[in-house]
Amino acid sequence: MTPEPIALYCVERMNDFREELPSDIREKQRMAVRAHNRRMDLLIVVFFGLGFAAQEIIRACALSLGIAILIADILFVIYTMLVLIPRADWKYCLKIEFVCPSCSKPLYYQSSAFGPKSSLITRGACPHCGYSFVTLSSA
Ligand SMILES: [Zn+2]
Repeated sequence: MTPEPIALYCVERMNDFREELPSDIREKQRMAVRAHNRRMDLLIVVFFGLGFAAQEIIRACALSLGIAILIADILFVIYTMLVLIPRADWKYCLKIEFVCPSCSKPLYYQSSAFGPKSSLITRGACPHCGYSFVTLSSA
């Protein structure tokens, strides 16, 4: 008997309404997640690329320039994660019309590494106004 990884266990216990969403909403949700993940992948490549460049510059005895690049790299990543990527996700939702029919706000809501926390996933509801996309059945 092998113990299950803790992260998978937590995700499994959480309610997941993704497969009960209307098919067009579900498909747009997948598209929004993929677009978000592509942006994150690109950010990771840029982060490590700049980090590697800074390391090489430090090795070439330009310590202060290397440290300046490292600090700029970290600030760039924080700004991108907190501002640029959420803004791009928001615009992408509007572009593919992945918006709530009730409040017209984008339905994609960044989940965390700790599991699906968007109310669209956990309750089948709009994260902004609570509009429900699923009809709860007792069956
Ligand atoms: Zn809404």
